[in-house]
Amino acid sequence: MTHPLQFLEDERAELVAQGAFRLARVLDGAQDPVCRVDGREVVNLSSNNYLALANHPRLRDAAIRAVETCGAGSASVRTIAGTMAAHVELEQHLARFKHTEAAVVFQSGFTSNAGTVGAILGKEDVIVSDALNHASIIDGCRLSRATIKVYKHADVADLRRVLDEVRGQYRRTLVVTDGVFSMDGDVAPLPDIVEAAEAHGAIIMVDDAHASGVLGHQGRGTVDHFGLHGRVHIQVGTLSKAIGVLGGYVAGPRVLIDMLHQRGRPFLFSTSHPPAVTAAVREAFRILEEDDALLARLWDNTRYFKDGLKALGFDIGVSTTPITPVIVGDTRLAMRLSDRLFEEGVFCVGIGFPTVPRGSERVRAIVSAGHARRDLDKAIEAFGRVGRELDILPSVTRA
Ligand SMILES: *Cc1c(COP(=O)(O)O)cnc(C)c1O
Repeated sequence: MTHPLQFLEDERAELVAQGAFRLARVLDGAQDPVCRVDGREVVNLSSNNYLALANHPRLRDAAIRAVETCGAGSASVRTIAGTMAAHVELEQHLARFKHTEAAVVFQSGFTSNAGTVGAILGKEDVIVSDALNHASIIDGCRLSRATIKVYKHADVADLRRVLDEVRGQYRRTLVVTDGVFSMDGDVAPLPDIVEAAEAHGAIIMVDDAHASGVLGHQGRGTVDHFGLHGRVHIQVGTLSKAIGVLGGYVAGPRVLIDMLHQRGRPFLFSTSHPPAVTAAVREAFRILEEDDALLARLWDNTRYFKDGLKALGFDIGVSTTPITPVIVGDTRLAMRLSDRLFEEGVFCVGIGFPTVPRGSERVRAIVSAGHARRDLDKAIEAFGRVGRELDILPSVTRA
């Protein structure tokens, strides 16, 4: 007898046969730069905990205090009874930090994208989107029912071509890009994108999920990094990566934020953050503003780790950020490399097709400000050993 979900059995079997069915590894305890995963102590190069804030004592204390004074949950959406004083204070703080008129916090980076595009565009409009934009941008664009045109990744000439093609045919035009691309770690050519978009009177939206807390003064993101304040209309980002907690934000002109309060569906129809989340995020921004030490260590560690892998002879792509792909060009080999590294005490996720194009399958490493030199040395050494074992590197390295 088959049952109505039999097709899922078949699809799962297909994934297993392709070696593409993966079960998540399980963390015992906190998300730390060195932590226990599946019962093994590992150097953690898989998380987005760039600044090691996820288990920072000050964030923990802020969260505990918030629970004690304001409880465990908010029990309402923002527009009914779920706007707490701490939510408003965080948003004011974020707007100051981003040098924008206003900001709004959503439940996650994903819902920020899903809620924003549809709140400002409709089916008469066109979106011009980078080919490698994040899934949540793509979903947000689809939800808006606007026409979607894709330009070649980070290719401003192609962006201009698409803008010329759509000129005069739609009500409004939105150009949208990741600030930093999560698979390759490259930074969007934002100054040129802004110039191209301005020439067409287009709205400009940047998703800084991998850039906020990483690039720009005190981690203000790509807009600050490139000195483009006031020229990018919509800055989206996450509070779940470098900021270490959970959430997403949109920063921009007052009128944009006012209208997201009216029309941003996750804001209207999904419960707001618990007080502990909001308080811990606020504390993270205080830390960023007080002291550059974490950011400096992140970039120090990034350079050290990349230099080590490059010296071994690995192809580490074109990244200019802490995201470090180690490209092996085959899904099974990427998964094998990841598994062997794990056995050697290095947790580094394997990424295969279709998440990345065929021929560029990889493991992806992200160092953190919290890694000590000996952690990075251990990781580099393991990469060398396993790389030779799997014939990714020549078996005898040049002296
Ligand atoms: C991770 C990521 C998101 C999602 O953020 P969450 O807070 O985890 O939902 C959105 N956009 C980009 C570009 C990302 O890398």
